[in-house]
Amino acid sequence: MILPGRTVGIVGGGQLGRMFTLAARRLGYRVHALDPMQDCPTGQVADHEINAPYDDLPAAVRFARAVDVVTFEFENVPAETLAAIERLRPVHPAPSVLHTTRHRLREKDFLSHAGIPVADYRPVRSLDELRRAVAELGVPGILKTAELGYDGKGQVRIDSTKQLARAWRAARGVECVLEALVPFDREISVVVARSAKGQVACYEPFENEHRNHILDVTRCPAGIGPSLREEAQELATRIAQRIRLVGVLCAEMFVVGNRLLVNELAPRPHNSGHLTIDACVTSQFEQQLRAVCGLALGDPSLVRPAAMANLLGDLWQAGEPRWHRALAMPGVHLHLYGKSEPRPGRKMGHLTACADTADEARRVVLAARRALNCNTKL
Ligand code: AMP
Repeated sequence: MILPGRTVGIVGGGQLGRMFTLAARRLGYRVHALDPMQDCPTGQVADHEINAPYDDLPAAVRFARAVDVVTFEFENVPAETLAAIERLRPVHPAPSVLHTTRHRLREKDFLSHAGIPVADYRPVRSLDELRRAVAELGVPGILKTAELGYDGKGQVRIDSTKQLARAWRAARGVECVLEALVPFDREISVVVARSAKGQVACYEPFENEHRNHILDVTRCPAGIGPSLREEAQELATRIAQRIRLVGVLCAEMFVVGNRLLVNELAPRPHNSGHLTIDACVTSQFEQQLRAVCGLALGDPSLVRPAAMANLLGDLWQAGEPRWHRALAMPGVHLHLYGKSEPRPGRKMGHLTACADTADEARRVVLAARRALNCNTKL
């Protein structure tokens, strides 16, 4: 057990690391962050920030030597860096978990071997393979790069066999996965934590709405019945057990009628779980800390229905958002990540609202976000 007062290292310095660090410091831990960028969102609130590229092995070794345990908020750390860190300190989740989840094809193979339902898919490594895959799965489909895709990046929709050469060029010839397009009714996600002793704590499913492939609004409870809810939690729990997770994992799922298909895994806290900070007994970030430090997991129960709305850089186009307006609304919480450059599409912060129902919380959080815009009259 790594107890309060000791030092946790976090690889990656974005908003997930920042919220993890805030949770850890509240419990009296010290936190060191490793990130290439100076004054990164995590570094601003950590005890110590090491700035070095992720492939700088001597810097990774220095970082590891100064901490008691290492976790991460960013999956695309080179395997050599993780191996160097792992030789010195425990790393949770294990690098083998990252190896599976950072590559769509490995992830889908893992899920289907575990008997977890996923959309039909085929590996694609050449234009010929793409032609064969489309012949087998039909159109519409989505071609996704196997690595380095997030928020819809590295994805091309295919509606006709005439688009294949263009789609393959757009993917720049890297290894891909072709997936059948799923005519889903809803998108949900389940955040689950697992400790080294095998204790599992699963959050209520969240319901997610995307805009331009980026998460826009999450609400909880999701608008699904008790049997789907139970099945979603059971799937997430099975995934955590099969992958031998120590930490937190998010499973994104499609709801199609009364069926669930798992779309994607992230072996860390997730954007859709941000409302756990204000709405659950234990936040997903405290849960990550508890899991990686070998403590008992906290209670994941939802205290009040809630909704979260992301604040993207686009919101700054008309000037600094009017924070005081959202803060004047009862039940609304503001979280800003300390990023100085509000680029379009960049996640700058989020708002959470708690209310008597998820619908009401969604209404309030969207009204709060609209109120931030300089041009809306209150
Ligand atoms: P991903 O990067 O896989 O999480 O995909 C981003 C978003 O694209 C998802 O949240 C869905 O809204 C959409 N999407 C991805 N894959 C599919 C699919 N096979 N069928 C339908 N929509 C999809």
